[in-house]
Amino acid sequence: MSLSKKLIVGNWKMHGSRAANAELLKGLLGADLKGSAPRASVAVCVPFPYLGEVVAALQDSVMAVGSQDVSAHAHGAYTGEVSGAMVREFGAVYAIVGHSERRSYHAESDQLVADKAKAALAQGLVPIVCVGETLAERDAGQTDAVVARQLKAVIDTLGVDLARVVVAYEPVWAIGTGKTASPEQAQAVHAFLRAQLVAAQVSAASVPLLYGGSVKPDNAAELFAQPDIDGGLIGGASLKAADFAAIARAA
Ligand code: PEP
Repeated sequence: MSLSKKLIVGNWKMHGSRAANAELLKGLLGADLKGSAPRASVAVCVPFPYLGEVVAALQDSVMAVGSQDVSAHAHGAYTGEVSGAMVREFGAVYAIVGHSERRSYHAESDQLVADKAKAALAQGLVPIVCVGETLAERDAGQTDAVVARQLKAVIDTLGVDLARVVVAYEPVWAIGTGKTASPEQAQAVHAFLRAQLVAAQVSAASVPLLYGGSVKPDNAAELFAQPDIDGGLIGGASLKAADFAAIARAA
């Protein structure tokens, strides 16, 4: 079963500048997403330095803001880290944790990702926990085992608070590659993840399950129509106001 309201989240990654962001935000505000508000919540996850400006620009809109990572620590001698409280203080609502780019380029373990989710929740943010398999893992028939292992760390670490997270299934082979999982492939993994959550005593209706990986205006509607897909985590297409708005409308 899917949730009645979809969630569409943009991940700007390490793109943007103050001038480029202003242009993109102007386009998003001009796209007037208020019409889709009853059916879809919309957010953008932006680089840390831009949080304050983006929150201010979107304050009268239906769009929320998030970060793309957060520290597993609350405060202390962790040079270069940014805590959930700092992100929250700038008005952000969400924090992506465990994006595959962080898991692979920064060697983030399943347990570190779970600890980041816990820290985000403790500091008033909603973590968007990313899971997903590589192409080699999919070809070896390990998709379910990989996403179950990644999710288990979060289940074991959060306990009852698991009901307060968002999970994004992002097959690594589909991120930024133009290769989208077919609606059937995505639905199969989402149904599997939903079953893991239900087995962990989380009500099927409480955790939004987003799909991410080359979502575009022309494939969004079919993906979002799947019974266990509650929205999308959108990378490249979130940098084009017209495309992101079209994806939000497809929800
Ligand atoms: C992402 O970065 O989370 C992502 C899904 O990227 P893209 O939409 O570009 O594949």
